[in-house]
Formats: sequence, C-alpha cells, structure tokens
Amino acid sequence: MKIEEITLRHIKMPYLAPFQTSRWTEHDRECVIVQVRADGLTGWGECVASQNCGYSYETTKTNWHILEDFIIPAVLGADLADIPAYRATTSHISGHPMAKAGIELAVWDLLAQQTGVPLQRLLGGSGDRVKVGVSVGIQATTEKLLEVVDKYLADGYRRIKLKIKPGRDVGDTAAVRKAHPVLMLQVDGNSVYRLPDAEHLKKLDDFYLLLIEQPLADDDIFDHAKLQPQLKTAICLDESILSVDHARWALEMGACRIINIKPARVSGLHEAKRIHDYCRERGVPVWMGGMLETGIGRAANVALASLPGFVLPGDISHDHGQVLLVVMVVAVEAKAKVAVGSWNAGARHLAYFEFTHLETSRERTTQSSEARWLFSSPGVAPSPRTAAAWKCSAISSSARRG
Ligand SMILES: [Mg+2]
Repeated sequence: MKIEEITLRHIKMPYLAPFQTSRWTEHDRECVIVQVRADGLTGWGECVASQNCGYSYETTKTNWHILEDFIIPAVLGADLADIPAYRATTSHISGHPMAKAGIELAVWDLLAQQTGVPLQRLLGGSGDRVKVGVSVGIQATTEKLLEVVDKYLADGYRRIKLKIKPGRDVGDTAAVRKAHPVLMLQVDGNSVYRLPDAEHLKKLDDFYLLLIEQPLADDDIFDHAKLQPQLKTAICLDESILSVDHARWALEMGACRIINIKPARVSGLHEAKRIHDYCRERGVPVWMGGMLETGIGRAANVALASLPGFVLPGDISHDHGQVLLVVMVVAVEAKAKVAVGSWNAGARHLAYFEFTHLETSRERTTQSSEARWLFSSPGVAPSPRTAAAWKCSAISSSARRG
C-alpha cells in the first residue's frame, strides 16, 4: 500500500479524578491520534505517551516531534507491503517506541481492512472474550482506596492492581487484602524503589499477591535479578522491557517471572507479539498492560490480549475516568471480560470518532506530494498549500475538570 496522507491530532481528555502513581499525577489524558490514508482506506493509530515523562522519556510533544520530523518523512509516499516493511523504513530512528507504535497501529488497521481479516486474527488471536482487571491509582487516604476498590468490584472486576509508593504500600495493600481475602490482587511500584528497599518489599509477601510490578528502576534489570530471589512474590517487569531481547535478558537473569506487555512501550504490536511468543514457548505468563489509552489503543490491546499466552487479566478497563472516552472502538463492558468480536475490518466504529467533542490543541495533515517538497528541501519557505494544511488552536483551560 502506498502511504498517501497522514494526519496528526494532539488531543486532551480530562479525567473524572486525578490518576496518581508513585512518581507522577495526571489530571488529563493527552495523546497524539494518527490517521493514515492509503489506497482509498483510512487507518487509525494512537501514540500513547502522555504529557508527563514519568513513565518514560516520551511525551506527547516528543511523539509529535519524532513523527513530524522523522517518521512521517520516512513513510509518506512509501509503498509498504507489510509491517516488517514499515519497521524497516523507520529502523534508522533510535528509540521513541511509542511514536513508532502509533503509525504501526494505523498500518495494522489498513492491512486488516485491505485483507478483510480482523486485526485479532492477523495477530493470531481467537475467541470473543479476554480477561481484564483494573488499575487503581494512589488515593488520598486508605479509606478512599477501599471505597474505589469496592466500586470497581461492584462494576464486575475481579482483579485489582494497586499503585504503591513508599509510605502508601504495605498499609494500603494490607487494608485491601483484609477487606477482600480472596481477591486477585497485585501492586505496581513504577520504578520508585531501590535494592536496599528489599527488606521492606518482603513485607508484601504476606498478602498473596499475583505479582509485584516494576519495583526498581526502569533501566535496572540487573538489580531486579538480585531482588527476585529475595521475594516469594513474582516480580513482573513493565518499564524495563522494551523489546524481545530485554525479555530474554530479564528471564535468563532471573530478574522476573512474569512480563507485562504494552504494545506501545515495545514499539508496536509486532514486537509485542514476539515477546508474547517468546514467553509462551518458555511457559512464562504475560498480561496486557495499559497506558490509559483512548478507545483506539485500547481496542488494539484487546485484540492482542486474545492471544493464548495472555493468561493473567490485563489492564483493559471500561474507562479510567476519562470524561470523553467517545473514541471507543469496541464495546468494552464494565465486567470481568471484554468483547473482542467487534474489532474487525467490517465492524469498525471509528465513524463515531468525534474530535469536535475533544480538545484538539493542534492538527496537521501532510500529503505525500507535499512531503517530498517539505522534508527534502530544508531551508525552503513553506508553500501556501502546505501552510494551509496546518490547523492550530490553543488548549482551553476552561475545560479542565473541577
Ligand atoms: Mg506498570
């Protein structure tokens, strides 16, 4: 398929309540939505990096920059037969997996439409249900946390993940475990602890957790390998795993027993599937993480989570408090399972994508005929046609949540 036109939209959705982890708090969800046109079709993708660089160095602004200045010039006008062709076209760009994953998802979507094979099947998934849980941010008090957990359990969720940090870890986890003795429960440190905290982290072994996610630094597989033998509870790595090679290193070193797969973190569905396949061959459980995606990214996560190695419930909840989760592509139920059957080429619901209901801080469309001129002739002034392709508006602060 020949990539003819790409549109980027930087959008913003307010949360109903702030989402707090050990290292950052977000009040709004910002991301870059990608629209790719080829052969008369339109594919959709999402760059999931948020406005903060707490989870990784990527942000919405770096995503936009890398897309605009490097990825789009590389792929616009290119004839891409498949996903490996897309990855080859962008292989000279170091890092920035979330920026790369945004376009890759749109190309997957185009391939699904072109072949008439649902994305789920293209990936090797099956069935019409996947196991899901929900991730609960750090709350103002332990009492409030218990309230929020109760609400999600009433919604039908059967697995809860607690974000933890020093001072809000053992006590919060103990309280939830006491209130719910048989609940599937896990915790996520988001890289806030260090190896000398091992004695403290051992206290979490008392609560029969499914796993402890990413307790140590994101770039520190080595110390996780020293920590895991000291804990009864399985360590699950998230931020540390950026490729199938990282997964291999971590497992060979004994740094974890479980891996959290987030397609965007590992540069897209292609690498995510490779990690799934590698782990499955070795009997290592994986599960689908979440980046508080809009419906576009979430729908793709649902499709991938239907692969057989995803044996633990994923973070694919019906919402994360976004007021305007109108970009949902699949019918996600607030139950213990999520439907995946509607994610296919013939049943896409992206017509409901309503940018008019979202705050769009900037939008840019670039066509292949313009790209050659725009990106191959640095220093040449923009033509009126290219300039007209830009549409910008300021983010309105009046729309922030109260
Ligand atoms: Mg995590």
